[in-house]
Amino acid sequence: QPVIVAIDGPSGTGKSSTSKAVAAQLGLSYLDTGAQYRAITWWMVTNGIDIDDPTAIAAVAGKADIVSGTDPAHPTITVDGVDVAGPIRTQEVTSKVSAVSAVPEVRARITELQRSLAASAETGIVVEGRDIGTTVLPDADLKIFLTASPEARAARRSGELKGADLHTTREALIKRDAADSSRKTSPLAKAGDAVEVDTTDLTLSQVIECVVTLVEE
Ligand code: C5P
Repeated sequence: QPVIVAIDGPSGTGKSSTSKAVAAQLGLSYLDTGAQYRAITWWMVTNGIDIDDPTAIAAVAGKADIVSGTDPAHPTITVDGVDVAGPIRTQEVTSKVSAVSAVPEVRARITELQRSLAASAETGIVVEGRDIGTTVLPDADLKIFLTASPEARAARRSGELKGADLHTTREALIKRDAADSSRKTSPLAKAGDAVEVDTTDLTLSQVIECVVTLVEE
C-alpha cells in the first residue's frame, strides 16, 4: 500500500528540506506544490497577464502545461517544456504568487495535477504545501504541520537568499503568510488530525528524524 505524507506550514519552516530528505530516506516520491503555484505565476507574468485581475487569471488558468519531476534527489519543474526551476524563485514571482494562487480556478487546476501525481506514485509520496492535509489529500496516512517563530523563519530565508536584508525578508514573509492564510479557497491551515512540529529550536536533522519516526510508527 503506497504511503502518502502531507507536510504543510508557512514559509521558512523547513518544509522543502524536510520533505525532500524524508522522501529520499524512505524511498518515496516528492512533490513541491509551492513550485507549481510559482510556475503558473511565472507563466502569468511572462504572458503579461494582469496579476491584480482575478478574472483575467481565471480565464487562462488552464493554459500552462506544468510538469513536476518527483525524484527527491532531483526535483524538476517545467512549463510548456521550459525548465523554470531558477526563474520561479525570483522576487517578482515570490511577490505575486499569493495573488495568483488565491484564484479558485488556479487552485482547482493545480489540485488536480497534485492528486494525479499522488495517485500514480508507486511506493508513495511526500507532498509539501499549504493545504495538502486539509484539501488536496485529506486521506493522507500522515499529516505534519511545521511551524517556527517569525524570527527563525526570516533568518532561514535570508540565509538562503544570500545577503538579503533580515527585516525586509521578515516583512515579506509575514505578508505572504497573511495572504495565504486569509484567502477564501483552501487557505494555509493545519488539518484537525495533523501533528504539529515546532522547528524553532530544532536542527534540520532533528526535524527529519522526527518525521521519519512518525511515518514508520
Ligand atoms: O512553498 P512556497 O513558498 O514555494 O510557496 C509559494 C506560494 O505558493 C505560497 O506563498 C502560496 O501562495 C502558494 N501555495 C499555495 N498552496 C500550496 C502551496 C503553495 O497556495 N499548497
